[in-house]
Amino acid sequence: MYFNKDTQVYLNGQWTKAAEATTGLYTQTMHYGSGVFEGIRSYATDEGTQIFKAEEHFERLKYSAGKMHIDLDLTIDQMVEISYELLDRNQLSDAYIRPLIYTGANMALMPTEEVNIFFCAWKWGRYLGEKLLDVMISSYQRPNPKSCYVEAKVVGHYTNSILATTEAKQKGFDEALLLDMNGYVAEGPGANFFYENKGKIYTCPKGGILSGITRDTILELAQALEIPVEERFFKPEEVKGADGAFFTGTAAEVAGLRSLDGESFKMDWEDTLGHQLSMAYNRLVIGKTYNDFSLV
Ligand code: PMP
Repeated sequence: MYFNKDTQVYLNGQWTKAAEATTGLYTQTMHYGSGVFEGIRSYATDEGTQIFKAEEHFERLKYSAGKMHIDLDLTIDQMVEISYELLDRNQLSDAYIRPLIYTGANMALMPTEEVNIFFCAWKWGRYLGEKLLDVMISSYQRPNPKSCYVEAKVVGHYTNSILATTEAKQKGFDEALLLDMNGYVAEGPGANFFYENKGKIYTCPKGGILSGITRDTILELAQALEIPVEERFFKPEEVKGADGAFFTGTAAEVAGLRSLDGESFKMDWEDTLGHQLSMAYNRLVIGKTYNDFSLV
């Protein structure tokens, strides 16, 4: 699914076939999860293939690497260039780009000088699918921001996400919603979270979540469309039975929820602000204006 016999990847300055690329079994990232990564989307637009918010993603990659003491010496421009070449070499247009920065062999708990840079891309549909989601409040919390840099995209943080999604699926839900250590709603395993009630959308403040680029885009779009937004902490009880809710993320884009812990949201998704924002987002990523879109 991720590659075939012709797929090319970038590995430490070389273009190589995915099927032939290899790595060591003693890397610290493999043993301890200390690497960093990104998830980026490109779209076919009237002006050709465009990577959405490429600079923002690579700034975050550099930030994540810095926090983990990983010396990533490529510039943002170089990484943007590699990404476009990657798409070009693989004849991809609507695609998902995955840069992964992983460390060298080291069984001690200190960063390694060896830094490996891997870029791959594949065609990927919406991560959470096209249908409305039945979501459960996870029994897992997001990591305490004092235990790690939760706002950095670190490989090892995703063990928490895997546990939460697996639990949700095993219980017959589509996805999980995780609380923070104080019991406030934080985010999904791979997406930020918004809910709406009485013409206003709410999301939690930054600090205990991965500060999503899609989340920022939604906040920008809401401002442009004069949709009121409040960033504040809220408990799950406030969300249950509200008008609507949605996840945002590069892979998921804007994904509407149908229910939380079995309790349905009040409005039809098509009538919600979340749906308006999702339509505006779908236009924005392909370089179309959203102001002329018939948004009330
Ligand atoms: N939270 C988590 C835990 C994520 O993995 C992601 C996906 N990167 C997001 C939020 C959304 O971030 P973005 O919009 O930048 O993709």
